[in-house]
Amino acid sequence: MHPADRDAARAPRVITSLQNEQVKFIRSLDMRKVRRETGLFSVEGAALIITARDSGWLPRTLIYAAGENQRPIVGGLVEWALAAGADCLEVTEAIIAKLASKENPQNVMAVFEQRWALPPLAVAEPADGTWLALEQVRDPGNLGTIIRTADAVGARGIMLIGASCDPYSPEAARATMGSIFNVPVARLDQPSFVQWLASWPGDVVGTHLSGTDDFRTVAYRSPTVLVMGSEGAGLSSELAAACTRLVKIPMAGRLDSLNLAVATALALYQIRGSHLRV
Ligand code: SAM
Repeated sequence: MHPADRDAARAPRVITSLQNEQVKFIRSLDMRKVRRETGLFSVEGAALIITARDSGWLPRTLIYAAGENQRPIVGGLVEWALAAGADCLEVTEAIIAKLASKENPQNVMAVFEQRWALPPLAVAEPADGTWLALEQVRDPGNLGTIIRTADAVGARGIMLIGASCDPYSPEAARATMGSIFNVPVARLDQPSFVQWLASWPGDVVGTHLSGTDDFRTVAYRSPTVLVMGSEGAGLSSELAAACTRLVKIPMAGRLDSLNLAVATALALYQIRGSHLRV
């Protein structure tokens, strides 16, 4: 290839039409079906993209509003994306507005390949590790918040059990604040999870409204799997039966349960307490 052609291939492409096929494709990543078929997802905002870069992810495509690349942060991301061989698209304000979320829209976005972890091999896990298992989580905002919390406490990863919402949806990925790039996420059906638990050497702690142990007073046996039920139905009887203990988060008011993400945060902070530092 002639050097001039190589430089052109590495330069951003300017796109001004909303009908551009690449623009339409990136927009279609809002749909779960398209994400499932392509294995891709998009995120918005320089902060999330920087987290991806610093965590070793490489973009497929970087999109930014014309002029944004004059800002050193975005200019640096364009350099990084071009060096990684990604497509860089310089688009109009109207196009980025169509691609971005309606609340708090950002002028830079990127497309990445999804990564799915395998359930951990118990023998390869650190003795004091903590995994989190979520049964049929429904709300992407809850899932994103939980991924962020799992990152905050240094959990080893998350297993999504059964039919769950998509951690790579725009809403979930946004709620992770970038932790989607740091926390391994695996998915498996309920029978496979119960089978996998048989090899787990430590505690399998289910949080349950009819648990009899106060979650603050239990001596958790490491490594630990924390199992949370779904927003509506709670923990299924099959998973409750597979836990080595069922704990309750005590309540004083008139409600019987906490929001899933709040309950997960309380339990994770209790289990991971000795690993946390100010
Ligand atoms: N109606 C559901 C039930 O009967 O469990 C409530 C589900 S709650 C919104 C979602 C999940 O958060 C529960 O399955 C459980 O894992 C956890 N959770 C919420 N509040 C809890 C509490 N007070 N004690 C133990 N777990 C709780």
